Amino acid sequence: MTPLPPGSTIGIIGSGQLGRMIGVAAAQLGYRIHVYAPDSGPANDIAFAHSRGDYDDIDALRAFARQVDVVTYEFENIAAAPIETLGDKVRPSARSLAVAQDRVREKRFVEALGGRPARWAEVADRAALDAAIDTVGCPAVLKTTRFGYDGKGQARLLSADDASAAWLAIGGGPAILEAFVDFEQEFSVVLARGVDGTVALYPSPVNVHKDGILDTSTVPAPSIEPWRAEAEALACKVADALDHVGVLTLEFFCGADGAVFNEMAPRVHNSGHWTIEGAETSQFENHVRAVLGLPLGGTGLTGTRVEMTNLIGDDVDHWQALLTEPGAHLHLYGKNEARPGRKMGHVTRVKR
Ligand code: AMP
Repeated sequence: MTPLPPGSTIGIIGSGQLGRMIGVAAAQLGYRIHVYAPDSGPANDIAFAHSRGDYDDIDALRAFARQVDVVTYEFENIAAAPIETLGDKVRPSARSLAVAQDRVREKRFVEALGGRPARWAEVADRAALDAAIDTVGCPAVLKTTRFGYDGKGQARLLSADDASAAWLAIGGGPAILEAFVDFEQEFSVVLARGVDGTVALYPSPVNVHKDGILDTSTVPAPSIEPWRAEAEALACKVADALDHVGVLTLEFFCGADGAVFNEMAPRVHNSGHWTIEGAETSQFENHVRAVLGLPLGGTGLTGTRVEMTNLIGDDVDHWQALLTEPGAHLHLYGKNEARPGRKMGHVTRVKR
């Protein structure tokens, strides 16, 4: 494919902070973004144009796609079928979206490529949950098949007695039941894949979550070294099998059970935010480069240690102190209200 020249417009479906950071990277290279979303979000502040429409409004999506040179998406909780109608202008393709947004498809896809998720079973209805508990055992986590994020749509079961409460907590099926993994650490593989199949792998960060939400990502992560090569090989296989174009992220648990696949995201990822200052080329720039058909940039570290910390809810109140901290790179997403659990910004510290 001929690379799209500077001045071209990238259409982004979704208006969140990921779209905003993709937009900043696009602007640096001389490209514009056009945001499509049902409401305004952090990405609208920096967009050249906006289209307001529902994610399943095929006519509105088509009109939007006609006005841009390439279409990408910044979150996966949108139906894949309407996106599919936009054809090959969409990068990553609707197939990457369809596989990654459905926990059943995602796990089957990864298993077929040799990946190892935690023991799991499909739960179509309440009766199936009892059967799943027999197969999977407890403790376990019940997760909605679709539309879960940041620990939402999940409930833990310590024993079979928790089944009804867990079923209610997630608002009913369809769901999966997954064995609880007694992991030592969590890490992710973030890669970018170009239109020509070239893959740029970032150093894998170790990720610490609080209340199901990412708290910190740190590189380098020597503690995950025993599992890194296996996880990277799987991520590359997944990217190739999907013919994925753009950034792809796979999350893993590791410990006595080896590298256990958790989930994937067909997009730039919170555990890759450290790359803005911590890598030669950020995940956002490499996503932009990939979807435009440009060569990918290097992924080496810019320091000896890089740590990204999310600013969740009230954490953002310390923004002025962070501005005075030497070496701290503050990113605020322009959200007005700091609700509990809401990602308001992040800070990256690079040790030279
Ligand atoms: P997820 O949205 O599936 O990535 O889950 C959010 C977080 O919940 C993960 O990053 C883990 O910290 C925790 N979690 C999810 N599934 C499991 C599991 N099967 N075993 C242990 N912890 C889990």
